[in-house]
Amino acid sequence: MLNQTYKKSSYCQVVKGNNDNFFLYHSLFNQPRIVTKSVVDFLDIFEDYKTLKDVSEIFEGDLDEIIGMFEKIYFLVPSNINENSVLVSLQKEFLEQLQKGYQISRLELAISNACNFGCKHCMHFLNNEMPTRVDPKLNMSVETAKASIDKFVEKVRASGNNFIRVHFGNGEPLINWKVILFCLEYCESIEDTKFAYAINTNLSLLTKQKAEILKKYKVKISTSLDGLRESNDLIRVDHQGQGTFERIISKIKLLQSIDYPIDGFSITVTDANFSLIDSKVIDFAKSIGVKDVSMDFDLVRSMNISVEDCVNKIISLRRYAHQNNLNFYGTWETPYRILMSNSWLSNPHAFCPAMEGKTIEFNVDGTLKTCGHTNTVVGNFEQFDECFLPSSKYLELINSRLPGNNDFCKGCEIEGCCAGQCHVTLESSQKDSDLVNRTCQLMKMTTKALIKEYLQDQ
Ligand code: SF4
Ligand code: SF4
Repeated sequence: MLNQTYKKSSYCQVVKGNNDNFFLYHSLFNQPRIVTKSVVDFLDIFEDYKTLKDVSEIFEGDLDEIIGMFEKIYFLVPSNINENSVLVSLQKEFLEQLQKGYQISRLELAISNACNFGCKHCMHFLNNEMPTRVDPKLNMSVETAKASIDKFVEKVRASGNNFIRVHFGNGEPLINWKVILFCLEYCESIEDTKFAYAINTNLSLLTKQKAEILKKYKVKISTSLDGLRESNDLIRVDHQGQGTFERIISKIKLLQSIDYPIDGFSITVTDANFSLIDSKVIDFAKSIGVKDVSMDFDLVRSMNISVEDCVNKIISLRRYAHQNNLNFYGTWETPYRILMSNSWLSNPHAFCPAMEGKTIEFNVDGTLKTCGHTNTVVGNFEQFDECFLPSSKYLELINSRLPGNNDFCKGCEIEGCCAGQCHVTLESSQKDSDLVNRTCQLMKMTTKALIKEYLQDQ
């Protein structure tokens, strides 16, 4: 043991707080720790390979115990260990489970690829080129919905599970209400499988009758409101370019009136409404009784606002929301959330459930994708089972997106917890080369700022 050599991991990252405390993490395995300067100094002794004998001459204390602790979380690495190989071996078991379908649990149904709104910043329409937003051919048929549910249920059952989350998406699903209703009734008729439901909707087509049905089946409703009236109506518009604020608010009130209030709303920020998004939107959220506000910057087009200004807006609004007991989050928070709660040393993770192999989207035209917004087709309906063969396009995509496997991300300070960010942003970067560098910068700077916020609160 005394002759065993150790080196500080090249993945060991240090963030200094304002109160003489430090935040250490491993940029592949996460494992966050708040430590004092003496711990940082101790690890620095291992900038070059050292034996325990070397260190015992300059360090007083239980060396075996402290080295053992840092070795376990790969902050100190023996000379015969390669951390990338450790990660690959951990992923091998996960990939075998994927092939058996053990992960699959989220069924996304593209209920309608059409939308009655005309927002220019819509992620769905920007990333999926469609000649029109209103053609009835963009609606899923009852037959396709039924067959999609049957295929998915069969796969989930074969893998020994009995719980499925069904998500109604794509453009505006309420356009195709009869298929939503069919799905709810059909799923409830299936024995031995439990379902939970969610819908993303702009709410405009909601009626009291539809709202009562969504309430009956406990469908979790997510909606968007891009700020207060002036801000929202600049970008969230109908096909005639008219603002939609009044319509959305009236439907939020409708849901409250039947005692089925929404939990929150999502704000998209673009160059057009950036300056109009401030603490008043949090006050407004509180005044209408919601508890969750999410905010994202345009994920599919570069903005002209500086990344610093975006990070400052995130941090100041997040602080204000927390002071008002509201949750405030967005895609920018994902790496930080994963950093604080996940590690491949204990549980597999990727950027989102889609990239963890939990989700399959069944599209109107019979194609399969990993989520409703990506344009990467990974299979088709008839050959659903082939998605789970070892060299399938689906499994290759998931594998290529796991932490450590993406050449573009190798060596990034948040490689393990960001894992290549949202796949849709990467796809959109092919048309907009600045986008990926900009979002990488946003992810890195925001993660660091959130770590500093955390240290401040200790
Ligand atoms: S997508 Fe960018 S920020 Fe995320 S891990 Fe890769 S290089 Fe880092
Ligand atoms: S790839 Fe992006 S849009 Fe798709 S589920 Fe993941 S985070 Fe969401």
